[in-house]
This record gives sequence, structure tokens and C-alpha cells, in this order.
Amino acid sequence: MRIKFLKRPAAGKVCFWLDLDNTLHNASKHILPEINESMTQYVAGHLNIDPAQASQLRNAYWLRYGATLLGMMKHHDVCPQHFLKHTHVLPKLHEQVLPDPQMRHLLRRLPGNKIILTNAPLEYAIRVLALLRIQSLVHAVVAIDQMSINGRLRPKPSGFLWPAVKRLVPARKHVLFEDTASHLKSVRSHQMKTVWVVPPRFPKQHKAGKPAHIDHKVARFSQSAAWSFTLAQTGQAGSLGTLMR
Ligand SMILES: [Mg+2]
Repeated sequence: MRIKFLKRPAAGKVCFWLDLDNTLHNASKHILPEINESMTQYVAGHLNIDPAQASQLRNAYWLRYGATLLGMMKHHDVCPQHFLKHTHVLPKLHEQVLPDPQMRHLLRRLPGNKIILTNAPLEYAIRVLALLRIQSLVHAVVAIDQMSINGRLRPKPSGFLWPAVKRLVPARKHVLFEDTASHLKSVRSHQMKTVWVVPPRFPKQHKAGKPAHIDHKVARFSQSAAWSFTLAQTGQAGSLGTLMR
């Protein structure tokens, strides 16, 4: 896996791996429904089937492979670049991404390495980071187009991904912030700490208990500020527990 660093990472520090959509900003209201719609249209057009069938197929691929794209590549010979480009057009993205001053403040002050790790395409991720005004605060972006390991795309939750991302930064400790609980399951055996980000707009998961495979649970990334600072400065941090206000 090859990535371009925006800033040189510091060896021996803590590395914070940050998911993007629904972890650092709210993508559930407008952005993800629009992407889902585009993907359904793409699948329907490519396979010449109706949208209901396309939606069913997408769901099956998502459950089986963790991403519609992987199913489309495996079974229908789709070009990943073409698929990602045409399903992430989002002409109104500038109206849909809302900057979060608390999150920006935390990222600016937090020591250690901060790397975006997203199953979204790189071009989209860069656009979102610019709109959130945090592109200069992260060391790198690892997007789905770059998650190629031995010639195969291995996006989250692939167990092949974690050793590969850890090799990118020789860190003292690795922590992953992520809103999709199933993505955190395969992380446990790779000595990375996991923080599940569950905003109140997802009431079922927000109120539910924390699954055993997850270390900590917070409602927003910025809620972890004190814990993240201690971890970044000392390499050790006690229980963040569950912060759900
Ligand atoms: Mg997410």
C-alpha cells in the first residue's frame, strides 16, 4: 500500500486513525443517501436491471464484502476508478459538509500522528477535509483507492488492512475512531485501540451497550479530548469508558 504523506509523521508517537463520514462530520443526512442513490443507479445502469433489484444486489454485496464496489469488481468486472468517480459527484457537497469548530480545535492541538482512514475515494475525502477546514491538520489520507494489498483492494473491515496501515507509521500506539461497529471487529487482534463514535442521531446504537470487541464509546470525536491528549502525551491512557452526552 502506497500513500502520500501531507506532513511527515513522527515515529514513536501515538497514531490516531480517523474514519471520515459520520465520525468527523455528519454524512447521514444528505451525503450518504445521495451516494447510495448514485450507486444504485450505477449498478442498475451497468447491469441493465431495475433500481429495486440493484438496491438488493448492493445490499448483498455490502454484507458479503463490506463494500458495493468489491462485489461489482468481483462479479461484474467494474473499473473501480470509474465506479468511484461516478458515484461521488455530489455537486452540492459545499452545502452539505458543516465545519465543526470543536473537532477542528482538537485536531489542531492534539499531538501525535493523525491519519484519515476512509472507505470513500481519495478525491471525495480531500473535498470533505477542505470543507471541514482540517486538511492541513492531518498527516495523510488513506482512502479506498489506496487500500490495495498484493494487487487486491482490501478496504475496512478486511483483516489484511490493519497490519498494512500499521506499517505506514511506526507509532508507539495505534487508535482507531470509527462509527461503523462492524469495521472495528477485525481490529482487536492487531493491537490497535478502538473507539466507537455513535452520535445521538443514531438512537438505537447510541443507547445500546458497547460490544465487547470495542474498547471505548463516545458520541463525538471531540468528547475524547482529555483521553486522547493523555494518550498522545504519555502513550498510556486509562479507561475512556462510555461518554454519551
Ligand atoms: Mg464512517
